[in-house]
Amino acid sequence: MREHSIAAIGADGIGPEVIGAGVRVLEALQQRLGDVRFNVTSFDWGSGYYRKHGVMMPADGLQQLKPFDAIYFGAVGAADIPDHITLWGLRLPICQGFDQYANVRPTRILPGIATPLRDVGPGDLDWVIVRENSEGEYAGNGGRTHRGMPEEVATEVAVFTRVGVERIMRYAFALAQARPRKLLTVVTKSNAQRFGLVLWDEIAELVSRDFPDVTWDKMLVDAMTVRMTLDPKSLDTIVATNLHADILSDLAGALAGSLGVAPTANIDPQRRYPSMFEPIHGSAFDITGKGIANPIAAFWTAVQMLEHLGEADGAGRLMRAIEIVCASGVMTPDVGGKANTQEVTDAVIAAIHGSNV
Ligand code: ATP
Repeated sequence: MREHSIAAIGADGIGPEVIGAGVRVLEALQQRLGDVRFNVTSFDWGSGYYRKHGVMMPADGLQQLKPFDAIYFGAVGAADIPDHITLWGLRLPICQGFDQYANVRPTRILPGIATPLRDVGPGDLDWVIVRENSEGEYAGNGGRTHRGMPEEVATEVAVFTRVGVERIMRYAFALAQARPRKLLTVVTKSNAQRFGLVLWDEIAELVSRDFPDVTWDKMLVDAMTVRMTLDPKSLDTIVATNLHADILSDLAGALAGSLGVAPTANIDPQRRYPSMFEPIHGSAFDITGKGIANPIAAFWTAVQMLEHLGEADGAGRLMRAIEIVCASGVMTPDVGGKANTQEVTDAVIAAIHGSNV
C-alpha cells in the first residue's frame, strides 16, 4: 500500500467548499485504486482563525506542515480583513518558507467549456505556464521616502539572480522535454529591461544546451499576448518571470473559459519541502455559502498533486473523470451550467467508479 500524507487547508470563502469536494474525490479515487492511501489532515487556519487568535496560522504553522507530502489549499481573502494580512499571513509564508519557486499552471479548454476564441476547440489550446515564484518583480525589494510630500519617491526593484533564473529555466526545459511536443517559449522583455531580462535570456540560452531535443523560442511579453490569442496552437510550455506570468496566466485562464476551472501548483522541485496545490481563483465572497462554487479547479489541482506524488495512474483517471463530466454538461453556473458543487462532485465520483476511466 502506497501512503501519502496531505495537509488540507480550505481557509477562506469558497476555499473550504471546493477543498472539501476535492477530499471526497480523493477518497473515491483511493477506493477505486485500492493500493494507495491518502491520509488527509485538515487545518482550520485562515480568516476565521485570525478573528479568534489574531494570526492566520499558529507561529509553528510551517513546522506543522513540513512533514506532509503535499498541501491542498483553498483560498485566502476576507471582506473585513486587509489583503496584506490574509495573503502575507498564510499563503505567502508557505510559498516562501518552503521555497516553492516553480508555479505551474496548466491551461486547456475542457470539453463542454466555451472559449471566447473563435474557431478554437479542445485540443487547440494545451499549455503549461511556468511562473518564477520566488524573486523577479515581486521580490519585495524597494521602499518609499518623503511619504505624502511632493518629492515622494517609491522604488520597486526587480531582482534576478543567476541561481533563481537558472533553476526556473531548468525546471521549464525539463517540463517541456517531458511533454509530447517538447516545445518551450521563453517570455522576455529584454529590449526594454536591459539588465535582469538580458541575464534571463542569456541563462535560457545556456540551459537550452543541456536540452538539445527541446525546440525553444523567445517572445517579448507584449507580442506574447497577441500570439496566445491569435495562434494558440503554436504554444506548449511557457516560462516567464513572476510578473509576466502572473498577467499571462490570467489571460490564459480567460481564454480557457473560466477562473473556476483553472488550477495551479507551487512546487519545490528539489522536494526538500511539501509542495502546495490550489485553484487559481480567490475566496469569491459573492458566491460563498451558496453551494454553487465550481470545484473543477480544485479537482484539476488534485491531478497535479497526484502527478507530483508519483500517482500517474490516479492522476490520469481523475483528469479523464473531470473531462467526462464537463463534456456531459454537468457544470456550475459560472461555466454556463445549472448544477451545484455537490452535483458536479457526485458526477466526478461516479465517473471515477465508472468503467470508461
Ligand atoms: P481574491 O482577491 O480573493 O483573489 P477576487 O474577487 O479578486 O478574489 P475571485 O474570488 O477569484 O477573485 O472571484 C472572481 C470572480 O470569479 C467572482 O465573481 C467569483 O464568483 C468568480 N469565481 C471565482 N472562482 C469561482 C469558482 N470556483 N466557481 C464559480 N465562480 C468563481
